[in-house]
Amino acid sequence: MSFDVVVAGGSVAGLFCAREIAKSGHSVLVVEEDFEIGSPEHCGGLVSASGLEDLGIIPSNKTLDSQIEFARLISPGGASVTVNAKKQNVLVINRREFDKQIALQAQKNGADIKVKTTLKTAKDGKAVTNSGTFDYKILVDARGVSSLVNKDRTGMLQSAQYEVYADWIEKGVVEVNFDAQKYPGFFSWIIPESNGIGKIGVAGRAINAMDAIEKILEQKGKHSVIRKVFAPIWVNGPIQEFIVGDTVVVGDAAGQSKPTTAGGIYSCGIGGIFAGKAIARFLNTGNRDALAEYRKSWHKKFGHEFEKQLFARKMLERLDNPTIDKLFSSITADMIKDISESDDFDFHTSAIVKMLGLRGSLKMAQTIFGAEIKKLLS
Ligand SMILES: Cc1cc2nc3c(=O)[nH]c(=O)nc-3n(C[C@H](O)[C@H](O)[C@H](O)COP(=O)(O)OP(=O)(O)OC[C@H]3O[C@@H](n4cnc5c(N)ncnc54)[C@H](O)[C@@H]3O)c2cc1C
Repeated sequence: MSFDVVVAGGSVAGLFCAREIAKSGHSVLVVEEDFEIGSPEHCGGLVSASGLEDLGIIPSNKTLDSQIEFARLISPGGASVTVNAKKQNVLVINRREFDKQIALQAQKNGADIKVKTTLKTAKDGKAVTNSGTFDYKILVDARGVSSLVNKDRTGMLQSAQYEVYADWIEKGVVEVNFDAQKYPGFFSWIIPESNGIGKIGVAGRAINAMDAIEKILEQKGKHSVIRKVFAPIWVNGPIQEFIVGDTVVVGDAAGQSKPTTAGGIYSCGIGGIFAGKAIARFLNTGNRDALAEYRKSWHKKFGHEFEKQLFARKMLERLDNPTIDKLFSSITADMIKDISESDDFDFHTSAIVKMLGLRGSLKMAQTIFGAEIKKLLS
């Protein structure tokens, strides 16, 4: 069988890409290796309402779990800072349902979707899968972090996330714990779905994620784990080339999740949309410049912010626990108020700048990081 485009990977990036291609009247097949779109879910589901709007999705009742009201950040020594997150309008969505919503949009626009279908090889316009060979003009690689394994392992951190029932999980409150020894280069998190139900996760450089998460749960108290997920996250930012020959790389496969938090629903989804639109223009005109627009538009939207996030990540990786504690103790009520009132969940380096007090009187961050810190202010 022959399609204008074959998309390998039926998750956010691949499905949004397919939706845009199908909308333009071109034929597109999505092959997904798992047995169900959206499953197994490997995501906390945190996303901004404005991000969902940009992606063209109004979450259904089944998709929307809850809204975040507060973010509680906890230092290694146990100090906590609580940011009011209501203005940022951050939602918790159920990815099992969300991905199906996108799949339905793609299908209604004319895309074909096949589950339990694994792309084995793609060469000379032929995609070989376990359920047949499909001819294509363009192949979209939307296979997620697994696509990066052979390219670069340095940006990959191991993560574990459990779905947990426990009465210490508070609806509306996200908790983030920093500890440079337990979670080097990252943090642990609690994302509530509702009172008593949520996702507990951890990631870090060279850690045993399962041991780390078990310890967190042991300390937290009575709970039941109802689901366990172990998955890599990518924190090194975008790869150099989004287009190689007749292959277009999108989403996590292109390194499009945030270097600070590895959140990718929005930036990977937009990657899929930009790629889909560019592919459609290329198929209409035969002009490869149209295809190249994809990389340009993604970088125009996220490039600068991601560079700053990469720098913020470099700083985090250098901090030891006493320094993190010191930084926490220098955060003032005014800084928290400012962040609560004016910051953006998707472009959040401005909040990091405020936390470090870089525009105010605090000079400690400059002392720790030296002149390099100016990169965050640019
Ligand atoms: C524990 C964890 C928590 C997270 N929490 C959040 C969060 O709260 N908010 C947020 O925004 N982001 C979060 N993320 C990141 C987010 O899940 C990803 O950035 C996003 O899903 C990337 O989408 P994608 O389509 O690029 O890739 P993926 O979602 O990884 O999808 C890739 C798809 O390709 C399929 N595939 C792989 N190989 C093949 C093949 N050979 N043939 C066919 N199909 C194939 C896979 O089965 C999969 O369905 C989290 C990630 C993890 C691991």
